[in-house]
Amino acid sequence: MSTYGIDLGTTYSCIARLDSNGNPEVIRNNEDDSNTVASVVFFENENNVVVGQAAKENVETDGERVVQFVKREIGKRDTRTYEFDGKTYTPVEISALILTRLKNLVEAQGGTIEDVVITVPAYFGLEERSATKQAGELAGLHVLSLINEPTAAALSYCARQFQEDRTILVYDLGGGTFDVTVVKMSMTQNSSGRDVQKITVLATGGDDRLGGKDWDDRLFNYILHACCDENGLTPEDIEAETRQDIRGKVEEAKRKLSKKQSAKVRIDVNGSRTEINVKRTDFEQMTSDIVAKTMNFVDATLEKVPNVEIDTVLLVGGSTYMPMIKDAVEAKFPGKVQQHDPDQAVAKGAAIYASMLVEEVGSLSSAQGDDSSGETPHAEQLTSKFTVEDQTPRSFGPGVVDTTGAKHKYVLENFIKIGEKMPAVFSKTYYPLEDNQERVLLRAFENMSTDDTLIPCVDEDGNPQATDPAHNVKLLGELVVNLPPNTSRDTPIKVTFKVDASGVHVEAVNTKTDETFETFLRTESDIDVERSAVHQLRISSD
Ligand code: ADP
Ligand code: MG
Repeated sequence: MSTYGIDLGTTYSCIARLDSNGNPEVIRNNEDDSNTVASVVFFENENNVVVGQAAKENVETDGERVVQFVKREIGKRDTRTYEFDGKTYTPVEISALILTRLKNLVEAQGGTIEDVVITVPAYFGLEERSATKQAGELAGLHVLSLINEPTAAALSYCARQFQEDRTILVYDLGGGTFDVTVVKMSMTQNSSGRDVQKITVLATGGDDRLGGKDWDDRLFNYILHACCDENGLTPEDIEAETRQDIRGKVEEAKRKLSKKQSAKVRIDVNGSRTEINVKRTDFEQMTSDIVAKTMNFVDATLEKVPNVEIDTVLLVGGSTYMPMIKDAVEAKFPGKVQQHDPDQAVAKGAAIYASMLVEEVGSLSSAQGDDSSGETPHAEQLTSKFTVEDQTPRSFGPGVVDTTGAKHKYVLENFIKIGEKMPAVFSKTYYPLEDNQERVLLRAFENMSTDDTLIPCVDEDGNPQATDPAHNVKLLGELVVNLPPNTSRDTPIKVTFKVDASGVHVEAVNTKTDETFETFLRTESDIDVERSAVHQLRISSD
């Protein structure tokens, strides 16, 4: 099999495939004796770039030559870049280096890798998605598709114990992010009329700055203070080398505490060896507020789907190895919690999905008389059971003027709402704001709201301005619609938004002249700075 699933994580990445029995298996990272690869890149010198645990070990000593958490930067509008030895790297290029390391794991074990599915957080917008795909291609991979991380986790869970019509809450606590997602499996018919389970994302929530690192930081402070107490010092007395020593040992101690009741940490405190014994009960006490914080996000996400009953809670992400997490979730959802290889479940689900996709192609080509060998019975079973629907990761719509009230309001009309089946298309007719208007600068926005309209969606300078910051309104670009001389304010202009996996397409048609406008300006510098109201469309025809 040359088909793989990749979990390109914020702190750790993982690659998996289906074994000859059709069961998902992770490709071991023998160099680090781990199932995962740290998503950390160290630019040692011009000729040597290191990815993984060895790179992570340089964070304290050579921090300025280390890049981590690059997933937070990928596909962002004002992309930051990294410069080393006269070369500039974009987040896409850094991500490609991590993907190349995963690819090398396969090749080092004699495998070949062709088609892959890469996972992304459910809340990723289209730009983050296309940047992730680009990173895959740059690493020489053929990206069959992307899949949402919680959907992949649900798939790998269902491959273990299939149950129809479930609503699953995925609690994914990684190294730097916490994602809560409610996914629903429901019966539907696929294109060939067969009954299949459709996996749909119902709600997402969480915090992209909350994860295992917060537990590391607490433990770091605890050990630092214990070192001071042991040696009669104050934190200010502690030398940089000692701090580095603690930093380097904290994560390992945390992992030990997931298995044992206590962990011994040996630190060289300003030259004198000190042994600190950390008890699990103390660790749990010093971090109980962060656990509670994650549970608040669970509540907030559940509030978005008030009528939904959760059947199963899936614990995903390396940080859910900490027993305190399972305890807290169990207390809230007694008897419903499931945890299976939490740091590998997402990659395994992606591997299942990848083979489902290849399987579909295989069955198509076999229908045409081709030989579709290399199938696995298990994957075949799954293909007939599931369909993963591509859903819009955001809501999309234009900014237009509402002239019905005493005062004009600039509003965002959501054409396509988050969670709709892709490709999604919607059109609406608007009118120039004034007679003899020369042109329209139609702004397209993405956001996280499910409301029909958002008011106001921009400030006076035309910058996105959400009524609720959680709506995350973002300007995608601007469509220039030129109007012929003497255009009346009653001229209908039909605006169409189409969203598919490759992005958002905006089109406007002057229905009087049949002229179509598609030139969509995406970058800030191309967008016309002149944001006068005379360049707007209005909602109603009166
Ligand atoms: P990502 O954040 O990239 O999604 P993971 O889901 O693999 O990555 O989570 C990584 C986090 O899990 C790190 O903070 C790591 O320290 C933590 N972790 C991994 N294994 C354990 C363990 N046994 N006990 C506690 N924390 C763990
Ligand atoms: Mg993850």
